[in-house]
Amino acid sequence: MLSAALPLVAAALTVVLVSWNRPGLPETDAVGGVYASAPEVVEVRSLSTGVTFGQLLEDAGMRSADSGNLLLAFREQANPRRMRSGAEVRIVRRRWGGDPLRIEVDLDRDRLVRLERARSGWTSSLIELVTTTDTVFVAGEIRSSLWTAILGNEGLGGVPLADRRQMVGRLDRVFQWQIDFSRQIRQGDTYRFVLERERRPDGSMRSGQLLAAELVNGGRPYYAIRFEPSDEPASWFDLEGQSVRRAFLMKPIELSRISSGFTNSRFHPILRRWRAHRGVDYAADSGTPVQATGSGVVIRRGWGDSYGRVIDVRHPNGFLTRYAHLSGWARGSAVGSRVTQGQVIGYVGMTGLATGPHLHYEMHVGGRAVDPIAIDLPAEDPVPAADMARWERERDGRLRLLLGLPGPETFRERRTEARVVDSDG
Ligand SMILES: [Zn+2]
Repeated sequence: MLSAALPLVAAALTVVLVSWNRPGLPETDAVGGVYASAPEVVEVRSLSTGVTFGQLLEDAGMRSADSGNLLLAFREQANPRRMRSGAEVRIVRRRWGGDPLRIEVDLDRDRLVRLERARSGWTSSLIELVTTTDTVFVAGEIRSSLWTAILGNEGLGGVPLADRRQMVGRLDRVFQWQIDFSRQIRQGDTYRFVLERERRPDGSMRSGQLLAAELVNGGRPYYAIRFEPSDEPASWFDLEGQSVRRAFLMKPIELSRISSGFTNSRFHPILRRWRAHRGVDYAADSGTPVQATGSGVVIRRGWGDSYGRVIDVRHPNGFLTRYAHLSGWARGSAVGSRVTQGQVIGYVGMTGLATGPHLHYEMHVGGRAVDPIAIDLPAEDPVPAADMARWERERDGRLRLLLGLPGPETFRERRTEARVVDSDG
């Protein structure tokens, strides 16, 4: 009944990426990036706390009459006293120096003010950075971890690393009730997903929404299709319209915060196997937020010998979860408090019997310790009956996009080929 911990697999990864725009998907033309042409140089400065825009211009060597003029033009678009600290200011000059020709000031991530030198002073214009929406299709095979598969994905070459991290985070959030990506991934697991992405003119992702995802874990496929019921916020459902949500998250820490997630499997997240000590250990930096995996009531918060600082939460149906070696408590976690699923209740530490910062997590049912990945929990509410027709239509559309990608069969075939070549050699 209990799944054994997985063997450690470190191998090169192979990933296939397909990214294209399909007719019928929302798309608009991008506004060209704002770049200086060749004979010009751009000096980038950013506004620090306590420094006014005027002072910044002075530091950049502008004469006071000139910067006074520029500030007048700037005021037509925005208040120079209301600029946020850290705002980027780009000063464009000719290659051989001299007075600035043009200055751009970021107001926020969607707007900037462009100032241009005219015959009689400065002119200003407010520029809205138009975001474009496109769809990214990604498919691949996992050789060691989801992190290495997606962060090291050569096919995603044009996608900034930060956006790839976001993609892993999205997958982790969609499958957080079903799979513990930090310890259940096996060599040869495959994934494919369709992500609708909003991009800024510089190509970075402003937001990204998973429309459909498939993960084949140990031969078992999991699906998540995004759908927005009429009276509820959007969520993810499997192919039968059952919610992906469960009464418990599979793990109390986000995948991105688990130490091994970033390294090349050199360090395993599971310091000791579940069987050996009736709990799961997650290596993470001290101070990493720890979430209650299910809603319930805090029944213990204090010092527990080898556990160090420990919190016990009692849940419906005889469940109890335990979080140990904490460095501190979060607000709202005192004994008797109601906590909700995903609520931060404490922070990773190394109190009690711990050789390094990690979270020790236990789940008990009816007084007996169980491995969270070995129990099946009922799903939350399915797609409402009133929305069934629309759900089926939208599901079929999204599924077609997903199934159009290379799937598990493709990767299996390729592995077979690889074996044949080996035996010939
Ligand atoms: Zn432990």
